[in-house]
Amino acid sequence: MSKATGSFRDSVDRMFTHAAGLMDLPAGLEEKIRVCNSTYTVRFGVRLRGEIHTFTGYRSVHSEHMEPVKGGIRYSLDVSQDEVEALAALMSYKCALVEVPFGGSKGGLCIDPRAWNEDELEKITRRFTYELSRRNLISPSQNVPAPDMGTGEREMAWMADAYKRLHPDDINAKACVTGKPRTAGGIEGRVEATGRGVQYALREFFRHDDVMKKAGLEGTLAGKKIVVQGLGNVGYHAAQFLSVEDKAQIVTVIERDGAISNPQGINIDALRGHVLATGGVRGFAGGSYREEGLVGLEDECDILIPAAVESVIHTGNVDRIKCKLIIEAANGPVTADADDVLKRRGVVIIPDMYANAGGVTVSYFEWVKNLSQISLGRLERRHEEARARMLIEELERISADTGTRFTLAKGFKEEFLIGADELELVRSGLDDTMREAFGKMKEVWMTHRQVDDMRTAAYVVAIRRISNVYGSLGL
Ligand code: NAD
Repeated sequence: MSKATGSFRDSVDRMFTHAAGLMDLPAGLEEKIRVCNSTYTVRFGVRLRGEIHTFTGYRSVHSEHMEPVKGGIRYSLDVSQDEVEALAALMSYKCALVEVPFGGSKGGLCIDPRAWNEDELEKITRRFTYELSRRNLISPSQNVPAPDMGTGEREMAWMADAYKRLHPDDINAKACVTGKPRTAGGIEGRVEATGRGVQYALREFFRHDDVMKKAGLEGTLAGKKIVVQGLGNVGYHAAQFLSVEDKAQIVTVIERDGAISNPQGINIDALRGHVLATGGVRGFAGGSYREEGLVGLEDECDILIPAAVESVIHTGNVDRIKCKLIIEAANGPVTADADDVLKRRGVVIIPDMYANAGGVTVSYFEWVKNLSQISLGRLERRHEEARARMLIEELERISADTGTRFTLAKGFKEEFLIGADELELVRSGLDDTMREAFGKMKEVWMTHRQVDDMRTAAYVVAIRRISNVYGSLGL
C-alpha cells in the first residue's frame, strides 16, 4: 500500500521550490511561476443505461506564458483537482525544458473507462468536449489536450470531431487535440512517442561515461536488467524498444493484478498480447507470477522504469528499492521525501519532466502538421531522393571514366536513395530534442555547485526559460 506523505502537488511544489531557491529570480516571480493559474471543475450528466449518470471532470491551466497551453486528459477514478494541478505544473516545466512552445495544462475525468462500453465512452467524451469548448479549454490556439492514462487515439478522434462540429468554420479545428489517429489528422509515431522518448533518453544517458559513473553503471544498454511498472502505452513501447532494439533484459513487469518475472528476460510483445486478451498479467506462461505486484519495484535490477501512476516510490518502500537508475516514464512516481532518500543513497533519477517528454514533443509536431495542413516530408522527400541519386550516378560515372573501382557497403545505395518519410522525420526530431535537453540538464548538473541531481538541473533549466519569457513580457 502507498505510504506517500503529502499530496502529489506538494511533491512537485517542493521540488520546484528547491530548484528555484538556487536561482536568482526577480522578487515575486518564483511564486508567479509556481502557482496554477486556474482550474475548472465541471459536473455534467449523461443518460446511459436508462438513467442519468453524473461525471466530474477538470481542466487545469498552470501557466500561460506561452499559448496554447498543452497537456493530456486522463480517465481514472483517482483523478482529482490536486492531481491535475500537479500534472499541469509538470507540463509547464516539461515544455520549457524540451523547448516546445506551449504553456502547461492538464485535464481529467473521474471515471473507470473499463466500466463503460465504447458507445457510452464516446457519448461521455463528446459531452466533456462540449463543456471544455464552451470555456475555451479546448482550442487550437489556446488549449490543446492529448492522451494520457486511460485515453488514447480513439478518445482524441472523438474530441476532435466534437470540436469540429461546434466550430465548423475553424480551418485549424484538427489542431484542437493531438494524439489523433493518422486517419483523423494524427502524425506517424505519436502512439509510440513517449516510450520512444524513454528509449532515446536512456541511450543518451549511456553515451555519457561521467553520468553513468554517478549511477554506478557502465557499458551499454545491452544486457542491463530492467523492471517496468505499467504495460500501457508508455511502458509497453519503452519495454519493447529497449528489449528488442537495445537488447536490454526486462526481468519484471508489474501490472494492476500482479507481477511477472523472468531472469532471462520477458517477451514483451507476448506479454502485451496476454494483457490485452485477459486484462492482466496473471496466467502468462513466459515468467513466474506474483500477486503482490508492487513488491516487484524492489527487485534487484540496473534500471527501474515506473510507467503507471504517481507516488509509487515513497517513504514506505524507498529503503528497499535496489536499482541504480530510475527513469520516470510516469509523471511523479517518486515522492519528494523518497527522492531525498534516493539522492543520499546515490540512486540516479532521470526526472519525469525530461523522461516522458517524448509525448508532448511529437504532439507539437502533430500540431504544426495540422496548422500547416501538410504531412511532414511531403514537399522535400522526392527532391532529396533525386539529389541522392545524382550523387551516386556521378560517383559511378567518375569511377567508370577513371577506371577507379569503389565498392559501397552492402545495402548502402538502397538506403541512401530513400528520402525520409514522416515517421523517420518524427523520430529524428524526437531524438534531437531528447539529446539537446539532456545536454542542457547535464551542463547545469555538472557545473552548478549546488545542483546535486538531474531533477534539480531540469527544474533550473525550465524555470530559467519560463522566467526569460516573463521577463520579455515585462513581468
Ligand atoms: P495507459 O493507461 O496506457 O497505461 C497505464 C498502465 O498502467 C495500464 O496498463 C494500467 O493497467 C497500469 N497501471 C495502472 N495502475 C497501476 C498500478 N497501480 N500498478 C501497476 N500498473 C498499473 O497510460 P499511459 O499513457 O501509458 O500513461 C502512463 C504514465 O505515463 C502516466 O503517468 C502518464 O501521465 C504518463 N505519460 C503518458 C504520456 C502519453 O503520451 N500517453 C505522455 C507523458 C506521460
